[in-house]
Amino acid sequence: MTTPEKVLEPWQWPEGRWRAIVNRVRAGKTYRPKAWKDDARCAVALSFDSDHETSELRDGGKSIGRLCWGQYGNRVGMPRILKLLERYDVRASFYVPAVTALLHPEEQRRVVAEGHEIGIHGWIHELNSILPYQAERDLMLRSADELERIAGVRPLGMRTPSWDFSQHTLGIAREMGLLYDSSLMADEDCYELLLDGEPTGVTELPVEWVRDDAVYFMMNRFQSLRPYTPPQDVLDIFRRELDAAYEEGGVFQLTLHPHIIGYRSRIWIVEEIIRHAQSRRNVWFATHAEVVQWATKHAA
Ligand SMILES: [Zn+2]
Repeated sequence: MTTPEKVLEPWQWPEGRWRAIVNRVRAGKTYRPKAWKDDARCAVALSFDSDHETSELRDGGKSIGRLCWGQYGNRVGMPRILKLLERYDVRASFYVPAVTALLHPEEQRRVVAEGHEIGIHGWIHELNSILPYQAERDLMLRSADELERIAGVRPLGMRTPSWDFSQHTLGIAREMGLLYDSSLMADEDCYELLLDGEPTGVTELPVEWVRDDAVYFMMNRFQSLRPYTPPQDVLDIFRRELDAAYEEGGVFQLTLHPHIIGYRSRIWIVEEIIRHAQSRRNVWFATHAEVVQWATKHAA
């Protein structure tokens, strides 16, 4: 027997029902500091999602070709990125599925040794937002433990592989005592995450699809998906985001992927962004965790 609620169409829902859905996870207080560290006008938070082979494994795929594309991320993309960050003395955040860390433990140790942050990015890059509660909780806990065991540092934050939450994700993050998430997009500043209207103590450092390299460069040979934006136009979009964040005294957050941005014809975009930001005196490059810690502590 179906419940009366189930047979109702969305346009028939009582107000309480759609309000409860919208209210489940919501943006609370905004955290924009009067100034960033060392009186900086703008914070720049670069991030890299080290998906590597898990892009193929997540859906049960065994394609050797797609797995070697993932391995390129480890063999070529990551060394190129780390070298670039070192040359400009920039620290960044890397979100790493536990399976990536198990496949490439030396990569994670190098990331940490060079002063970067490592955050949770699922177990095998699973679509966390459709998992049953127990499975999602188990994978989040195990992912944090595995990253800590391999990299030697307990992760302070997470980026969900789905860039989405299930009904339970935020509750699990609160239970784990995570400082922050970086998967949602209700603002351009850091903000407090509310669960059913209640503060959770977990802060959001928002991402956006416009500041994600995958949106512009992904391709699938068997589907019509192709890169449709020239690299110089991608730089133009990122630079406008950065310039506006600078003008507003906000944070410029960027998401990149070693197996997407690591190519010879694309990596220069990251270099140009760093050079452009460093050409202004008062810009603070920081990890996501540092940005969140500063923003929550010094919010205006
Ligand atoms: Zn990812």
